[in-house]
Amino acid sequence: MVTAPAQRPLSAYDVALAQFDAAAERLNLEDDLRQHLRQTKRELTVHFPVRMDDGSVRMFTGYRIQHNLARGPAKGGIRYHPAVDLDEVRALAMWMTWKAAVVNIPYGGAKGGVAVDPKHLSLGELERLTRRYASEIALLISPESDIPAPDVGTNDQIMAWIMDTISMQKGYSVPGVVTGKPVAVGGTLGRREATGRGVAIVAREAVRSLGIPLQGASVAIQGAGNVGLHAAQCLTQMGARLIAISDSVSGIYNPHGLDFPQVEAWKREHGQLHGFPGAEAITNDDLLALPCDILVPAALENQITGRNANQVRARLIVEGANGPTTPEADAILREKGILVVPDILANAGGVIVSYFEWVQDLQFYFWDLEEVNRNLERVLVRAFGEVASLAQQEGVDMRMAASMLAIRRVAEAMRLRGLYP
Ligand code: NAD
Repeated sequence: MVTAPAQRPLSAYDVALAQFDAAAERLNLEDDLRQHLRQTKRELTVHFPVRMDDGSVRMFTGYRIQHNLARGPAKGGIRYHPAVDLDEVRALAMWMTWKAAVVNIPYGGAKGGVAVDPKHLSLGELERLTRRYASEIALLISPESDIPAPDVGTNDQIMAWIMDTISMQKGYSVPGVVTGKPVAVGGTLGRREATGRGVAIVAREAVRSLGIPLQGASVAIQGAGNVGLHAAQCLTQMGARLIAISDSVSGIYNPHGLDFPQVEAWKREHGQLHGFPGAEAITNDDLLALPCDILVPAALENQITGRNANQVRARLIVEGANGPTTPEADAILREKGILVVPDILANAGGVIVSYFEWVQDLQFYFWDLEEVNRNLERVLVRAFGEVASLAQQEGVDMRMAASMLAIRRVAEAMRLRGLYP
């Protein structure tokens, strides 16, 4: 069992390391590679000033961390959230390495973030913070070396500001420096919904493997952001029944099904789900314990833990968020016979379509939506099949199988490249 060092709660990095150690042990990975892969490669911390609307100057702290570059340039999102710290960004960077490897796209892993609540900034403050943070991490990011994308609290507008900032420094447009941009400035069709669409594709493959029909299957989703809302949209379009969804304020529940377009319109208009007519208000804890076919945690880390895993009554969990389940909870869910499709596979749709965006930017040649979605489907279905068959061969759960497949690919690249000098 994994425990945090005394006097502090389990961090996302504790969880990431515990998952890595278990898979490395199972793979019998050589000790030098194990030590190498437990560490991040580069960690940049920046403290920087931003002028606020009232004329005052406030200091902010941001990070950009690259975990491993053996398989290609670093790739990973940028998070704006008050809880962002070194350990969280390290964990997210490590998971990005495994995510790119498990779906077999040629990237290494990275992540960035700023400790800030973007909801408390005006649009002007958000833009100034973003441009200054982008300049501070310009040491690391470029289309060849490290390519950020949106994550919690960031969006396509923020990516456009980062792209513009780097382009101003260079003197020409550099669209390939970030992905998840608006289509008008070199973004790709299909990126905004890609992570949620990927969650839905993987959920469809997983219910098929369990013999549950997707038509009418009940779905509960924690988190009504980019990932949660698009997963809800795609799953309901595929015939599933959305029975509950939540945001950081509260959740809504109707066992007969929620009308997704109305839920989305309400969220857009009111900024929260609370008060949606025709639904019961529930807490996030209640949502995680609802009887349903598919539970999609799509908010933050450490949501399903040793404390509440016993109450989960879903048949399948598809991890839209990164790191929502702790190792202790994983063991309980396994015991209860609940299939968990792990984050590094389940939410890889975003990085897959980011990869397509980057390829299009490097070639200045853009695809239609049908081509993007067809290729997303192809890459994810192949990866799901590879993970599921490794899980069966090795008699392990899907998280272990996905980690083993990913670590094996990264380790192979490291052995081939050798040790420099
Ligand atoms: P987002 O900022 O668009 O949305 C996050 C949502 O979670 C918001 O609706 C917020 O209200 C809600 N939330 C926050 N705390 C909550 C809580 N305690 N309970 C319930 N809801 C809560 O972020 P996002 O881009 O949708 O990212 C969500 C998760 O998916 C994160 O773990 C992120 O790392 C992961 N992810 C995102 C992408 C992407 O392309 N955006 C790709 C892969 C993984």
